[in-house]
Amino acid sequence: MSKKIRVRFAPSPTGGLHIGGVRTVLYNYLFAKQHGGDFILRIEDTDQTRFVSGAEEYIYETLSWCGLEPDESPKKGGAFGPYRQSERKDSYRKYAEQLVNEGKAYYAFDTSEELETKRKNVANFQYNIASRIEMKNSLTLDQDNVKKLLSENVPHVIRIKMPTDEEIKFTDMIRGEVAFNSSQVDDKVLLKADGMPTYHLAVVVDDHLMQISHAFRGEEWLPSAPVHILLWRYLFGEENMPQWAHLPLILKPDGNGKLSKRDGDRLGFPVFAMDWTDPKSNEKTTGFKERGFLPEAFINMLALLGWNEGSEQEIFSLKELIEKFSMERVHKGGAKFNYDKAKWFNHEWIKKFPVASFQLPVEILLKDNGINIDDPKKFEKVLELVKDRCTLLTDFVPQSSFFFQSPESIDVSAIQPKWDEKKNRFFIELIRAYEFINPWQHDDLEKEFKEIAAASQIKPGDVLLPFRIMLVGGKFGPGVFDIAAIIGKEETIKRITHTLQLLK
Ligand code: GLU
Repeated sequence: MSKKIRVRFAPSPTGGLHIGGVRTVLYNYLFAKQHGGDFILRIEDTDQTRFVSGAEEYIYETLSWCGLEPDESPKKGGAFGPYRQSERKDSYRKYAEQLVNEGKAYYAFDTSEELETKRKNVANFQYNIASRIEMKNSLTLDQDNVKKLLSENVPHVIRIKMPTDEEIKFTDMIRGEVAFNSSQVDDKVLLKADGMPTYHLAVVVDDHLMQISHAFRGEEWLPSAPVHILLWRYLFGEENMPQWAHLPLILKPDGNGKLSKRDGDRLGFPVFAMDWTDPKSNEKTTGFKERGFLPEAFINMLALLGWNEGSEQEIFSLKELIEKFSMERVHKGGAKFNYDKAKWFNHEWIKKFPVASFQLPVEILLKDNGINIDDPKKFEKVLELVKDRCTLLTDFVPQSSFFFQSPESIDVSAIQPKWDEKKNRFFIELIRAYEFINPWQHDDLEKEFKEIAAASQIKPGDVLLPFRIMLVGGKFGPGVFDIAAIIGKEETIKRITHTLQLLK
């Protein structure tokens, strides 16, 4: 029987989630769901100096907003828990010691001051094949001395002993065969002085214990792969290793290199999935969610940053992505991030989606802007009417506020230059005629408007813009008669009268 598909997203909870991380989640999730497998969230928090409060909670909220719920996680539990590495602390030491006993790793007693001095004196110092013989470790000290230091609990780490000049290779699902020379790789720390494993040891041990079949992660982890491959070879057998795929980077829209939070700040777009406030500096970073993105559009956009189906189709639901995604079609090269294209996806989703799907977030946005929705039927009509004009959910605020409250200000300066007594009389006539319209509906309002214009010898086009400004405050919004029909007779007349006063 073939192995059950089990994939994992293994973030270190150190801050907001970069879109590259969400894309890693997405590709893992799609692959797992396509194969009826499990998607696991494992929190890699062994570096306690980098612990950031709230970061783990933020990851749950982000995955939940995106609709990418894990099958197993610290919060949800599962048969392979605990899923937080700090809670698995005791399971790692024995593997590191096994490696020491087999001569594949060694104890190192160098103090941080000693390492600091080395780093100062030797440019690009690396603890490796060449330098390890000059350092204070179980390879250079005599055995009695090592025993003594260990029995006295002198702080020490365990480092992997990289073999000399060996080829370490593996097949990456995206890149094909990837090879490294072991002499080029440094002797990474596996177990730290505080007894915690480093990422390198923990990731291999946990992928094994959690029966991970495929490990997809960002390209930035490729240089660590030879260490992981060796650990697999030494501890659990290379044939049991998960299949690796190193996902291409998401690149800056301009210039070279990985898209950073700083690029987002510089160019005015979000890089994190949701708003994140750093608990130490209080620095706030905006997220796609709060910028007004629909999760469906966000996911769709991310899926296509590095993958395509090979057709012209660009709009995919999560369900379609699960059906169509394939690792073979993920590009090797990095994908340049394009914010305009991201917005395009959102606009397409707003247009395509039934309004009920975003009614709630828009209602919350309006509420934040002081507008309470008390007529759900009217609200639905408004959303339907204005949705084609909205790229972001936040656009619904200016595009629909005037349906629920009179405009805060009227741009009379846009009416005034072409205003005259004839137009003034037209609107007085219009008010009079509108008083009698019953039922109050779009076509009758338009018909009446045109008839009065004709009788006053005014082109309807000349009074339409002033009418729009009276109703919404400026030169925007959907069709004027649609607006008037929705806001009702009393409100329409009130707004015309108010502007006529201002124009006096
Ligand atoms: N803990 C690593 C991170 O923070 C995970 C890398 C991996 O998936 O192996 O991204």
